[in-house]
Amino acid sequence: MTALEKSKPEPGLWKVEAPVPEIGPDDVLIRINKTGICGTDIHIWNWDDWAAHTVPVPMITGHEFAGTIVELGRNVTGLEIGQRCSGEGHLIGRDSRQSRAGKFHLDPGTRGVGVNVQGAFAEYLALPAFNVVPLPDAIDDEIGAILDPLGNAVHTALSFDLIGEDVLITGAGPIGIMAAAVARHVGARHVVITDVNADRLALAEKVADCRPVNVAKEDLYDVISELKMKQGFDVGLEMSGNQDAFDQMVGALVMGGRVALLGIPPGKSPVDWSEIVFKAITIKGVYGREIFETWYKMIAMLENGLDVRPVITHRFPVSRFRDGFEAMLSGKSGKVVLDWA
Ligand code: NAD
Ligand code: ZN
Repeated sequence: MTALEKSKPEPGLWKVEAPVPEIGPDDVLIRINKTGICGTDIHIWNWDDWAAHTVPVPMITGHEFAGTIVELGRNVTGLEIGQRCSGEGHLIGRDSRQSRAGKFHLDPGTRGVGVNVQGAFAEYLALPAFNVVPLPDAIDDEIGAILDPLGNAVHTALSFDLIGEDVLITGAGPIGIMAAAVARHVGARHVVITDVNADRLALAEKVADCRPVNVAKEDLYDVISELKMKQGFDVGLEMSGNQDAFDQMVGALVMGGRVALLGIPPGKSPVDWSEIVFKAITIKGVYGREIFETWYKMIAMLENGLDVRPVITHRFPVSRFRDGFEAMLSGKSGKVVLDWA
């Protein structure tokens, strides 16, 4: 089968011929139809320090996918050959305290498809049946291929009650933009999204009913007055990993504000803890998606009018995967989807 592989410890990915993976008794084999390129894949492409310390080589990358089940392991029940699906890319164990409490997303032994185990940038993917998420007809394969990052957005956005709240999202990358759409869908009052990249803010405005703010040019406090907020934002969703964005968010929150952090800072970052304490701010770190509550809620929202399709800005056949990665590396794209059909 054709696959995109990190074949050597240096920047790039290589198109290779690899054997179709063998499945175990609890796995299914999925014929991949569409895949999304994630920021994680860009780290692996660039072969930065994180990738070099995390990803064994050779490794087929990719974890955002939609496809069709073509083979079932002998223990698998409840799934069918021919069923369209996406799936959770975090492989978890069942023995930890967290897993035994049903909090699978908190299993400390989590391994990542396309990071620690062979991934989805391939014609076929072997996946534990447990991780499979069947797709309803209303969700086509290109949306199916971006459910993983939409799930990050949904998990973060649903961390706190957003109904009637004023929400600040820092970072208008694909995930921040989708979080804006989710916040609006669930009934936030004002949704403001910040970035320093004009292309991304323009895309945010196209995808979600939100107020984009270029913080390199505009003062966020002017926007707070313009929207007639009394003190500031009730809820912050940090989706940039940028220190200035986090500081600005803390400053712009109301007393008792709540913050969910998805963005990953590049290293240790200094925090003004006294401001957090005196404003009595609640901070929650967010990792991955709740397994499978996030998937349940996101599919329900997609079936009930949540539309994130415009966040997909580029579509390429897998033969042009380099163009796809270039679009991502430009920093101007939304989601980039590769077609494996
Ligand atoms: P992205 O890199 O595409 O987007 C981040 C955006 O933040 C960029 O558009 C950038 O211009 C913007 N930004 C930079 N400085 C800013 C500032 N001062 N104020 C506001 N915005 C600023 O990332 P993405 O793919 O959308 O993912 C969002 C974040 O979530 C990333 O940090 C990513 O690493 C992280 N992530 C975390 C998890 C998790 O499980 N915790 C999962 C996926 C992604
Ligand atoms: Zn991803």
